[in-house]
Amino acid sequence: MSHVLAAVAWPYANGPRHIGHVSGFGVPSDVFSRYMRMSGHDVLMVSGTDEHGTPIQVQADAEGVTPRELADRYNRVIVDDLHGLGLSYDLFTRTTTRNHYSVVQELFKGLYDNGYIIAKTTLGAISPSTGRTLPDRYIEGTCPICGYGSARGDQCDNCGNQLDPEQLINPKSRINGEVPEFVETEHFFLDLPAFAGALGKWLDTRSDWRPNVLKFSKNLVEDLQPRAITRDLEWGVPIPLEGWEDRNDKRIYVWFDAVIGYLSASIEWARRSGDPEAWRKWWQDSGALGYYFMGKDNIVFHSVIWPSLLLGYSGEGDKGGRPGSLGALNLPTEVVSSEYLTMEGRKFSSSHKVVIYVRDFLERYDADALRYFIAAAGPESNDTDFTWAEFVRRNNDELVAGWGNLVNRSVSMAAKNFGAIPEAGELTEDDKALLDVVRKGFDTVGELLGKHRQKAAIGEAMRVVAEANKYLSDQAPWKLKDEATKPRMGTILHVALQVISDANTLLTPFLPHSAQKVFELLGGVGVHAPMPSVVEVEDLDGGPSYPVLTGDYTVGAKWESVPLVAGTPLAAPTPIFRKLDVSVIEEELERLAS
Ligand SMILES: [Zn+2]
Repeated sequence: MSHVLAAVAWPYANGPRHIGHVSGFGVPSDVFSRYMRMSGHDVLMVSGTDEHGTPIQVQADAEGVTPRELADRYNRVIVDDLHGLGLSYDLFTRTTTRNHYSVVQELFKGLYDNGYIIAKTTLGAISPSTGRTLPDRYIEGTCPICGYGSARGDQCDNCGNQLDPEQLINPKSRINGEVPEFVETEHFFLDLPAFAGALGKWLDTRSDWRPNVLKFSKNLVEDLQPRAITRDLEWGVPIPLEGWEDRNDKRIYVWFDAVIGYLSASIEWARRSGDPEAWRKWWQDSGALGYYFMGKDNIVFHSVIWPSLLLGYSGEGDKGGRPGSLGALNLPTEVVSSEYLTMEGRKFSSSHKVVIYVRDFLERYDADALRYFIAAAGPESNDTDFTWAEFVRRNNDELVAGWGNLVNRSVSMAAKNFGAIPEAGELTEDDKALLDVVRKGFDTVGELLGKHRQKAAIGEAMRVVAEANKYLSDQAPWKLKDEATKPRMGTILHVALQVISDANTLLTPFLPHSAQKVFELLGGVGVHAPMPSVVEVEDLDGGPSYPVLTGDYTVGAKWESVPLVAGTPLAAPTPIFRKLDVSVIEEELERLAS
């Protein structure tokens, strides 16, 4: 039994999230957390909405609202989406809490005291017509490295290099096309080169990461540059140093505050749990494990920058130092990055309407149908395309005709002929072989889930389902209705229902909503797959109230076979999954085109 931190990427609160977002971080982290809890680990799954930064400021300006109002709106939308998907966060909070501000400022001060934050005079872009700071990502120009014509001031999407806006050739404002003016301004930088040694040593110990993530991270460490951690902006966490604290025009850079959210959310969870020190078990115990889930565009923040902040605050970077007042903090165990999901062969794009938002999806389809698609066909280790045709095919052929049909025909046959789970007589070799297949599944599926190979894991679970369907067809219990053969019919159905119960446990991390239903169809009472709830809470330090996602996940199924009790009453089942008419493919493609 270990303490397992599931640190899930923070969705940016400037709009609703689409299914590409949740396939990269949301569903995989929930599948992992559910499995780890079922196998007896003490999991803390935390995240929240990332609410600072220039894009929110710019969008709020455009809508004539405050950044806080904009963030409030999308925080609620995102909380509802993640709730609808059944993502079992212990705490899903936000970066505008006072608790978060104070933890961010504490880390800033700790890093500063240890000499890992340095001041520098740099060039900042302003809009000549308004005199206001022009955010990096709203400046566009030609990439000085690869020559790509539409590089942004913070990054080139063609070659992937991080940029500063003044490096762009022919820079232009993306807001109104004017040429920005560059003026001198003072900022703080994280001294990343001072972590090269410590990061390199640490990465050398991370042999079980996905190879592409490890290789990419090691390459980043080869060429570390100081990185700005403050910005000319009014919206964000104030800089906690004398002479800076009260300045309204300088704020901590959004990426710096957002990665600290993993820690601040853990501390907030502990404070709300009644034991304010409880977070330490996940952050300071030497046996604790920490898994970070994100899409591949965020690897640098989790395998290089966040570890640097943790090392620097703990006094373990190349310049040494002392741990800050919270004490030394654990580095990640693993950075679990997924690849990109595309849609009908194109990149997701809200502006080009190549998109399906989570909310719209859940209005028309079931959460488990999407969870199944993401687990079975998502971007785990390759870029993957979502097509409506493939979604409908998998839903109908695999969920409905495979798993749903197995449950439905077995339960209804047993209910009709016995009214209860029948007694098992003597088992044949075929019976034993099938029971053996599903019992071995706890080891094989579990091992794959522990290694973040969810696609292979759900494939194994569905292989058990296929074997059970074949068993039923071969044994043909519906032919054994007369008095002499009915005991054998009972045995076959008992075996089938036992295999269904166990397969349902194997599928629970992936399909928690339907797993609860299958559990109840088999006569189960109480919670099988615990669900999160949305709770309106007061800010712990006097700020405005807000909704969080939280839950009690100590209840529910364990990762083990539970023998069914003969005689448990069964009722005629209702279908677990909805078959989709193929016409939805055309309808969805038309929505995309319009
Ligand atoms: Zn480039």
